[in-house]
Amino acid sequence: MRDLSQHPEFLAINTATLRQWPLERIIEACGRRGIRAIAPWHDDVERTGLARTRQLLRDWDVALCGYCRAGLFPVSSEAERAALSEHNRRVLDFARELEAPGVVIVAGGLPSSSRDLAGARAQVRDGVASLLDYAKTLSMPLAIEPLHPMYAADRACINTLEQALDLCDELDPARSGALGVAVDCYHVWWDPKLDAQIARAGRERIFACHLCDWLVPTRDMLNDRGMMGDGVIDIARLRGSIEATGFDGYLEVEIFSSADWWQRDGNEVLDTCMARYRTVV
Ligand code: ZN
Repeated sequence: MRDLSQHPEFLAINTATLRQWPLERIIEACGRRGIRAIAPWHDDVERTGLARTRQLLRDWDVALCGYCRAGLFPVSSEAERAALSEHNRRVLDFARELEAPGVVIVAGGLPSSSRDLAGARAQVRDGVASLLDYAKTLSMPLAIEPLHPMYAADRACINTLEQALDLCDELDPARSGALGVAVDCYHVWWDPKLDAQIARAGRERIFACHLCDWLVPTRDMLNDRGMMGDGVIDIARLRGSIEATGFDGYLEVEIFSSADWWQRDGNEVLDTCMARYRTVV
């Protein structure tokens, strides 16, 4: 297990952690602190512009550790499916332009007014398969991120690491490096099969490690994630189990926090991320 107090270079920031700042400011602030990588959101890159984003990343010597996100596959009409496919390809094109090492895939939940969970999951399988064909033409790996089951209806009907890995094995049985998982401690920490599934994933399948904490009580299903150390997840233990596979990538802080961290000064947020990375992660 890596000694993070000696290795600040593995810290990365998902830009959703700093929703109070525009992308330009996040890149600059990370660059000034020596934070080497970020995972931006596609909407923010579109807003900032592809060329300007690329220039800022160069100017501040900040790389991408991932790109958020494609997916949301279950739909209720062919017209929606066509529009979605176009959008997802565009996300991958942008990721490629910015030299992202991979794109995060969030499955999507039930189509509106549907109760067909099995059907939604079948749509996810078909959607990932189809996007994977395109991703391979760009040499862009896809990282399926299982989301906590509380999001099964509205965000993602892939809810455990086991389920995500089953899909990886079905669509990429050769473990080619084209398809893997993003392990976000917020979504998987509760799972009794977690250690076994991390071992099963192995280094070839774990493309990303997302960090935050689970607060008790959690006041909002989406936007009340905690800073590492403020909740109940044994983050160091989880990181140890991930790194036991040989994972040596970035540790990406991703905190959605409308009532707390998004209300603070961004500098304080980043400084706290850096401190907790050394002492808690
Ligand atoms: Zn995540």
